[in-house]
Amino acid sequence: MEIVDIHTHLLYHELDKPFQSAFSTFKTRFHCLVEIVCDNGIVGWGECLGPADINAAVVKSMTSLAIGRNPLDIEPIWQSIYDQFRDQGQRGPIHTALSGIDIALWDIAGKYHNAPIYQLMGGAYRTEIPAYATGGFCPQGGDHQQSCIDEMMARVEEGFKAVKIKIGFGVYKDIETIKELRAALGTDIEIMIDANHGYDVIDAIKVGRAVAQFNIEWFEEPVIPEALKSYKTLRQRQSIPIAAGETWHGRFAAQEAMEQGCVDILQPDVCGVGGLSEARKLITLCEVNHVRLVPHVWGTAVALAAGLHFHAIIPPTPGSHNQYSPKLEFDRTYNPFRQAIITQPIEHNNGVVTVPNGPGLGIEINRSSLKEFSPN
Ligand code: CA
Repeated sequence: MEIVDIHTHLLYHELDKPFQSAFSTFKTRFHCLVEIVCDNGIVGWGECLGPADINAAVVKSMTSLAIGRNPLDIEPIWQSIYDQFRDQGQRGPIHTALSGIDIALWDIAGKYHNAPIYQLMGGAYRTEIPAYATGGFCPQGGDHQQSCIDEMMARVEEGFKAVKIKIGFGVYKDIETIKELRAALGTDIEIMIDANHGYDVIDAIKVGRAVAQFNIEWFEEPVIPEALKSYKTLRQRQSIPIAAGETWHGRFAAQEAMEQGCVDILQPDVCGVGGLSEARKLITLCEVNHVRLVPHVWGTAVALAAGLHFHAIIPPTPGSHNQYSPKLEFDRTYNPFRQAIITQPIEHNNGVVTVPNGPGLGIEINRSSLKEFSPN
């Protein structure tokens, strides 16, 4: 079996109702899928986190290093591409592009061996993954507190037992929003807060100290990801567990964060960290450093499927009768092509998502939908 072609597919949609995180305004949904074609007709799919057009260009420049090779040589292909691109960046688009290629290779391997990816990666510890609803962005020009509470009440109605909201819109406004959200949801629902690195360390400490009383599961990306020392400071000076890692691509970046004691929870994204191959290495890194691993997931159903297979292979650490199971990040913001691009949508049932058990990623791409959402 040989790789004969690699295509990228851009998916684009302009939003009627833009929304904001602490630093970004989402006016569109724009994602990049990777399709790897083999000479025997097997096709594998992957996805890249981050700017879709940049990812497509980087995947294109990596393509010649994979053509003609056996797609089952996943690690050697990964390593030879990375070795060629190392000098241009140990983080960022090199990792995100390589992630799409790597996931597509695992999809091919699963189809070739007629087994789901989690089986090829050593087997599943779980195939039913409890999920948390991600949302609570600020509608552009809207009222964050009210929309956040309305939205999360609706998610709990749908069956979610855990929700994550966006903060970073002002220290005192955020504290008030979190207080009111806890009052609205009651004590049984887990609440996570994500500042998308919109604070400096002083404001992050203020928020962390003020809202700890509302039982917050984790405080995500309180400060910019480059400020590793500030992450450590935050762990020492406020009591909410600190989570981050969606931009610390690859094992070397994750190791640096571990060495500096930055996080209680590492959040690698399989579509950003370097694919399933690299994500698997971070399981060991977290285990030996005794850091909890809860994957980050953001993208289309391809990213969701890849994230689910990763979730399945994360061992419960420590083993006990009452084991911690990492929750799946289930983005509930509007994206018309998220599920439309696959033939069987991946949905939650009462806040629980089942890992697809077909060969590879276990999904089938709906090609007419790819055309419908193509920007061209
Ligand atoms: Ca985040």
